[in-house]
Amino acid sequence: LASRHFHPEDTIIEVDGIKIGGGNITIMAGPCSVESEEQLMTIAHAVKKEGAQMLRGGAYKPRTSPYSFQGMQEEGLKLLKKAKEATGMPIVTEVMDQDTFDVVEEYTDILQIGARNMQNFSLLKRAGKSNKPILLKRGLSATIEELLMSAEYIMSKGNQNVILCERGIRTFETYTRNTLDISAVPVIKELSHLPIIIDPSHATGKWTMVEPLSKASIAVGADGLIIEVHHQPECALSDGAQSLKPEKFARLMRAIEMIAPIH
Ligand code: PEP
Ligand code: MN
Repeated sequence: LASRHFHPEDTIIEVDGIKIGGGNITIMAGPCSVESEEQLMTIAHAVKKEGAQMLRGGAYKPRTSPYSFQGMQEEGLKLLKKAKEATGMPIVTEVMDQDTFDVVEEYTDILQIGARNMQNFSLLKRAGKSNKPILLKRGLSATIEELLMSAEYIMSKGNQNVILCERGIRTFETYTRNTLDISAVPVIKELSHLPIIIDPSHATGKWTMVEPLSKASIAVGADGLIIEVHHQPECALSDGAQSLKPEKFARLMRAIEMIAPIH
């Protein structure tokens, strides 16, 4: 179902009038985690002003350590909804498990399945029964073929609206958090009709590398970007080191517009 062989035309997924795929460039931006109403509203208005079309923000966080901040959970979902009402931007947020699937599904516009859950097959099957688009992130050590098979799990249960996301993979390199597999974009374009976006924030773990890799991502043909932005990255409860300040995000948006129109 994910194969271009049987479905030659690009899939275009529409959310509140915003088109993802088929030559459109979609920018999703926002904090790693929803931390407070003030934090989310500040960032939401800032990214909207610079031209982001969708708001990202985690309410349920898959943290490496159980002692790290786990997210605001349902409270965070309510704040995301509030931010949508204030800015008009649709929401993308992660769903971590089947227990919380219904509540996350109710609040969000796009359901994100994170890298650590790419092969959580029961979660994928549940996502296949949803009527909301799924943003499926590539696993830390997953091949492109495995990513496409996970998309197939969702699609075979009925939900054809899957957006793929390359977010860096584990390699022997340690300078960056992960290694962005930029070739995943042309490979996926060849193999599949599904949209593919890039997450340069998790790919690098360092804010200084987010703009150059964003430019490379758009140049190589990605359908969009998902970027972490924080107005006070040094105080962020998660992923501060890779979060752009609003003024740096503004510069990135202007740089992207030089390569391809954002719409
Ligand atoms: C995230 O988007 O905040 C996230 C946890 O991403 P990933 O699953 O790619 O690590
Ligand atoms: Mn993050």
